[in-house]
Amino acid sequence: MAEFELIERIRRRAGRRDDVVLGIGDDAALLAPPAGHWLVAAQDTLNEGVHFAPGSAPADLGWKALAVNLSDLAAMAATPAWALLSLSLPRADAGFVDAFVDGFMALAAEHAVALVGGDTTRGPLSISVALHGFVAPGRELRRAGARLGDEVWVTGTPGDAAAALRLGREAPAALRARLERPLPRLAAGRALAGIAHACIDVSDGLLADLGHVLAASGVGAEIELARLPLSAALEAALADPAARWHCQLAGGDDYELCFTAPADRHAAVRAALAAAATAGTVIGRIVAGGDCRVIAADGRDWTPPARGYQHFGSNA
Ligand code: ADP
Ligand code: MG
Repeated sequence: MAEFELIERIRRRAGRRDDVVLGIGDDAALLAPPAGHWLVAAQDTLNEGVHFAPGSAPADLGWKALAVNLSDLAAMAATPAWALLSLSLPRADAGFVDAFVDGFMALAAEHAVALVGGDTTRGPLSISVALHGFVAPGRELRRAGARLGDEVWVTGTPGDAAAALRLGREAPAALRARLERPLPRLAAGRALAGIAHACIDVSDGLLADLGHVLAASGVGAEIELARLPLSAALEAALADPAARWHCQLAGGDDYELCFTAPADRHAAVRAALAAAATAGTVIGRIVAGGDCRVIAADGRDWTPPARGYQHFGSNA
């Protein structure tokens, strides 16, 4: 199978939008952004052996390659529109490409994303997606902006994906779904525009990503272990609370939103999350300084074994 045949298979599945003037098939796509909006752009790569295990289901990889990018746009309160897909494949495997694009487009259809171009090359299995969307100027959520007295919130139940990774084949289906088919929080991100002060998506572990918000905002935080949202599946799968805290705080692959909002807007946050059909929990508060303290139920500091995943770090 030649490269152009693979691209033709992708083109047939690519989805449509009225603002795609010219999609797959020319040297570049022509796209018509809505007047008066900022273009929002993000890119994330998945490498075999680093981000996913060899033998992972191609449809899951397609879903996840888009999900991780959608999560970045969710954290900016943006509306996604156009994706570019760079595929590096060891061989021209039509079955792989078909299943991959089906998984990709299943999630793309949920968020009205069209696949408008990309690149197909031979090499080690690697997937890179560039995603573009829009936000009205001033409606974006940035990492900088957290203020003293803000509540620190997180959506969903972080830790589930990390537990699935840790348990491997033993992981229950509910946890595995969280690792393989994350649900990016786009509706929540948009609903929080104008309410939240700062926002980030949790991809490398809650503490690591909250740390980016704190650094960008010039503040510190106190997080309470007792307030961390815990899924029934994680509670059942890991008996040791310390092992659960480690997954919840330093696990990674959650694709939840961590955001801060003024305490006196608590009800507004609740209403926004309810309108977005997204669960959210206050896990602590913004304080002075630059550190993130984690406080146990007995009032003492809890020191996690690690803060999160870092490429090129000692955990890589
Ligand atoms: P060029 O050599 O001009 O870059 P390509 O042969 O790489 O052209 O691509 C031809 C068309 O197919 C372009 O519109 C490109 O965006 C699209 N394309 C190539 N690979 C992919 C892919 N993996 N997913 C989506 N579109 C792709
Ligand atoms: Mg090309």
